Amino acid sequence: MTVEHKPLLEVRNLKKYFPIQQGILRRTRGYVKAVDDVSFTIGAGETLGLVGESGCGKTTTGRCIARVYQPTAGEVLFHGDEGIIPVNRLEKQALKSFRKHMQMIFQDPYASLNPRMTVLELVGEPLLAHGLAKGRELEDRVAEMLLAVGLKLEHLRRYPHSFSGGQRQRIGIARALVQRPKLVICDEPVSALDVSIQSQIVNLLQDLQDQYKLTYLFVAHDMSVVRHISNRVAVMYVGRVVELAASEELMTAPKHPYTEALLSAVPRPNPTHQRQRIILGGEAADPGQTVPGCVFHPRCRYAKDICRTEDPPLNEVTPNHYVACHLAAELTLEGIAPILPTGD
Ligand code: SF4
Repeated sequence: MTVEHKPLLEVRNLKKYFPIQQGILRRTRGYVKAVDDVSFTIGAGETLGLVGESGCGKTTTGRCIARVYQPTAGEVLFHGDEGIIPVNRLEKQALKSFRKHMQMIFQDPYASLNPRMTVLELVGEPLLAHGLAKGRELEDRVAEMLLAVGLKLEHLRRYPHSFSGGQRQRIGIARALVQRPKLVICDEPVSALDVSIQSQIVNLLQDLQDQYKLTYLFVAHDMSVVRHISNRVAVMYVGRVVELAASEELMTAPKHPYTEALLSAVPRPNPTHQRQRIILGGEAADPGQTVPGCVFHPRCRYAKDICRTEDPPLNEVTPNHYVACHLAAELTLEGIAPILPTGD
């Protein structure tokens, strides 16, 4: 996978707060800080994995970038051929026209496909809606896309119910890619699929990335899947990025205790060398409550006094390895085994 380093997307201090309303007057009594000051850049041709437990804000981050949700604050800057586009500030018409550059692939391929539409209608709809193709040309472009995702021309006039879960996800991918976007936000694209199908879809996404020069934000909770596809990985906890580094570095030498705990759950190839899983005490912090100090401290087995009073910033601890932990420079944490080069 070739990675250019020119940025395609910049996310700066992104916030998404949902109001907590109470009483018959629906008064706002606080906010759920689903995304709280998240910043990162994705290079053209790169895949950035975004991981964390459910409710950590990774899906909301993806949806704010794609403007499914309007961010509360922050900037989403897309580096297009004609200059930088402030996605979070686009008005309705400009946003509609911008969407061809940025598309989403959803977790549940069945729910995201209208059961009353044929594959031709489903995949061709974005082209028709944006006036990009119609008639014979539209059919040709849909057919080309269908073949690219591993489906057949005979599938064109079938309905979603006649496909397996993996095939439906291929239709969802074809629909996302038919406008030739530059950035694709993959929102848990394999989580709802059988394990045997997951690797087929991940491999397909990698092939399509090379073929169409795509950039991915890959949102998932499965560290093994994320490791397989990502160049870099950002770990989120309660709306914040707590660690961001190159994929192999983060997997084999994590520097945040939460990342270490996530990695302890990854099964090892050799069953005689399984490590002890780190069971995190308590629940993840409530994003509607303010926790003094480090947001992870109530569950952290390394916590010291400073962790209970001071919020650690996301610092560059070693080149291009960012960590939000007071003890990042002194802790030696356990990751998973490196991928060894295969011999000829
Ligand atoms: Fe744990 Fe303290 Fe680091 Fe937070 S700052 S992750 S509580 S060691």
